[in-house]
Amino acid sequence: MARDHPLTRRDLTFGIVGLASKSPDAIQGALANESVDMGHRIRDHARFQTPAETRRVPLVIVGGGIAGLSAAWRLDKRGFRDFVLLEMESEVGGNARWGRNEITPYPWAAHYVPVLGKGPALVRELFEELGILKNGQWDEHYLCHSPQERIFIHGRWQEGLPPQTDHQQWERFEALTGELRQTGCFTIPMEQGWRKCGARERALDRMSMEEWLAANGLHSPEVRWYANYACRDDYGASSAATSAWAGLHYFASREPDDKGPIVQPQGNGWIVQRLEEKLRPHIHRGRMVYRIVKRGAGWQVFTEQTRFDAQAVIFAAPTFLGAWLIDPAPPKYPLEYSPWLTANLTLERWPEEQDTEPAWDNVIYDSKSLGYVVATHQSLKVHQRRTVWTWYHSFSEGSARDQRRLLLGGDWSYWKEFILRDLERAHPDIRACVSRVDIMRLGHAMPRPGPGAMFAAVPSSHAPSLFFANSDVSRLPLFEEAQYRGVAAAAAALRLLGRA
Ligand SMILES: Cc1cc2nc3c(=O)[nH]c(=O)nc-3n(C[C@H](O)[C@H](O)[C@H](O)COP(=O)(O)OP(=O)(O)OC[C@H]3O[C@@H](n4cnc5c(N)ncnc54)[C@H](O)[C@@H]3O)c2cc1C
Repeated sequence: MARDHPLTRRDLTFGIVGLASKSPDAIQGALANESVDMGHRIRDHARFQTPAETRRVPLVIVGGGIAGLSAAWRLDKRGFRDFVLLEMESEVGGNARWGRNEITPYPWAAHYVPVLGKGPALVRELFEELGILKNGQWDEHYLCHSPQERIFIHGRWQEGLPPQTDHQQWERFEALTGELRQTGCFTIPMEQGWRKCGARERALDRMSMEEWLAANGLHSPEVRWYANYACRDDYGASSAATSAWAGLHYFASREPDDKGPIVQPQGNGWIVQRLEEKLRPHIHRGRMVYRIVKRGAGWQVFTEQTRFDAQAVIFAAPTFLGAWLIDPAPPKYPLEYSPWLTANLTLERWPEEQDTEPAWDNVIYDSKSLGYVVATHQSLKVHQRRTVWTWYHSFSEGSARDQRRLLLGGDWSYWKEFILRDLERAHPDIRACVSRVDIMRLGHAMPRPGPGAMFAAVPSSHAPSLFFANSDVSRLPLFEEAQYRGVAAAAAALRLLGRA
């Protein structure tokens, strides 16, 4: 089984010393979308410029990720247009943001939405509106072409994920997750089933995924590897640090024969783009909210340019920030956030290989990282010499705080080398193929649902006209949860404003 070892300070120091002696190579690149300094200004209670103007508006949305954009989408659909959406970055999208070079658009983080049986009603509503679901049929251009997945194991690529030679253990795993599926407790969005969980399912939140595997006699290295991979990939946490409820939700909320997933070159960025086109008049980019103060029944929302006086606020930025920004402060968000590192590699040519065709998702079994997705995968061009790969790494073990320090301690050269060494296991000639490595460091990328997290209290509103909408209210970092929380907050705000 591929075991995750947390990256230690020692690894980092030796890595950097090792790098210093290497001759510079021709690979270019940079750290992209760095917002660490902005975030730290809030943490360090830095002085902010007093806004020169004041604007009255009934409703302010803070944060333009999928949750904030979904809240705006719902308000607009309900005919309510008297609101602003404030996003601190120069682009909206949050974890679904995307980029583009001369070859292709590419994702920076979120890269797919699963197609779930009949699927969550809101997701279907949005996709019907965006024209990719018509009379129950999905537009083939959006469903991931095959081959979808492959894994590099025992020195060669194999199609599909995960390796399944231990049939008995896989059958047992599938039988157990199938039973859980039948309980109706594991749903997407999670809130619909979560309230119906009985004592047996709730008990799953008191143990880790790894403990659950052991308690159920699932000792196969393959099954344990896959469970660990799924936890690292979905939650940025190892199976030993993930609540068994959350780990099992991944399997028990999906049907084994689900189609999809929905993928595009820019990952979930295509949804951001389409929502942005609809909502442009409301969106204010480059507007960091640095303070939200309760005044009478309403709120003053401060940016350095404008103070917005609002009757209600939808807080769609990560919920932990509420304790730093909102006065009076809400209860502290109870979960840690995992750091992540992602990179976009520009390839001038494909690595040499013989075993299989490249897939959309490519995983290296014996790696601390999560592999890469190919941005040009959906392209119908047969001979596409140049491409872009989006590579992923979650810092899944040890305390999130220590791992964050390691993430921020490494500069572009350090992480570029880390990434290329990881890929060299499967692609020995990768350095000869790559011309750029652009890297994004995400300090607080997603909540880690550790044991106890799923039934810990996370408020959805505050004092009573501020509504939390980030996907972290669900404790599960998924597109569907972001959309559901955004829409639920919009509905609550409309009720408060008497516009339901
Ligand atoms: C590397 C990675 C890969 C992922 N892959 C997938 C995937 O393939 N599929 C999937 O379903 N999910 C994926 N996710 C989960 C992803 O987080 C959710 O799908 C979803 O995009 C989260 O949206 P959100 O709006 O809840 O939060 P966020 O995307 O975090 O949005 C919050 C927004 O608030 C803004 N903000 C923060 N502070 C302020 C402030 N003070 N003032 C103004 N604005 C502020 C931020 O800039 C950001 O735009 C991935 C996450 C990561 C990190």
